[in-house]
Amino acid sequence: MMPKYSLIVPIYNEEENLPELYQRISALMDRLDGPTELILVNDGSRDRSLELIRSLRDRDRRVCYVSFARNFGHQTAVTAGLHFARGQAIAILDADLQDPPELILDMVHLWQQDYQVVYAQRIARRQENWFKRLMAYCFYRILRRLSDIDIPTDAGDFCLLDRRVVDALNAMPERSRYLRGLRSWVGFRQIALPFRRDPRFAGEVKYTFLKSLSLAIDGIISFSKVPLRLATYLGLFAALVAIASILLVFYWRFLEPGSPLTGMATLTALVFFLGAVQLVCIGILGEYVGRIYEEVKGRPIYTLAEVAGFEEAMPPERC
Ligand code: UDP
Ligand code: MG
Repeated sequence: MMPKYSLIVPIYNEEENLPELYQRISALMDRLDGPTELILVNDGSRDRSLELIRSLRDRDRRVCYVSFARNFGHQTAVTAGLHFARGQAIAILDADLQDPPELILDMVHLWQQDYQVVYAQRIARRQENWFKRLMAYCFYRILRRLSDIDIPTDAGDFCLLDRRVVDALNAMPERSRYLRGLRSWVGFRQIALPFRRDPRFAGEVKYTFLKSLSLAIDGIISFSKVPLRLATYLGLFAALVAIASILLVFYWRFLEPGSPLTGMATLTALVFFLGAVQLVCIGILGEYVGRIYEEVKGRPIYTLAEVAGFEEAMPPERC
């Protein structure tokens, strides 16, 4: 018998959260109206997470897991979970209990009302520092402006997806996976479910500033060509400044003897300005070319070290 629901949880060094996470999710699984599989994706954890996951699997056959050969990142971990999920409705949530598992019941309710994508939208982030909140606030709004598709603001990866949506996501060959964007891109009937994001239950944030920044750049580059156009605009602007300064130089040289033109300083400023514009443009080009390079290499998105629970159907006593 195949599971009706799949719950995907990416795990990276979450040993302190796993026992509580399992408690809350198993209570949830008992309340869902069909057989449910819990897919734990171990993203190359260096603590005891994998051992704990193995022992959960021994205790409860509804727990399945996939373990990466190294750390590949959160988006890749979720992608792997989507590849393995067998349910008709598939939910994605974080391991640190910032996404309350109980909300999945409300999501299922909406799914039964024929919504294929139910995404949780944060109306409050409790106990996250102001810097992270400000960055997130600005980022989602900039992305929305820049991209051609309608990517909702303040919606993370916490969501429930219909089988058809997951099939569409799995059919996408791209390596750089900004899932919240891809999820909007596929279409279908989508609905937001507002919720308050809880603080992390235990442990430290695994998304360092650099990881978040790289996710943000991934989001913008994957879903917008505006930065490339920005390079053109910057170039045009620089050309205008150059023309204006040539005119000014002529004017001061020939028509006004007491010229305020202080040669070196103006020249240095202009050289730096042009240098900066060029570097920014090359950087933007580099971002796109780098992604083309990644795609062309065609390497698999992740390497698996261990997989358990997918070879067999759901055990009857749990269905
Ligand atoms: N995570 C992961 N790989 C990573 C970083 C994070 O699988 O390289 C997982 C982590 O275990 C957690 C989720 O992604 O389940 C979200 O991470 P975190 O809570 O640190 O980030 P937040 O989104 O809360 O800032
Ligand atoms: Mg978190």
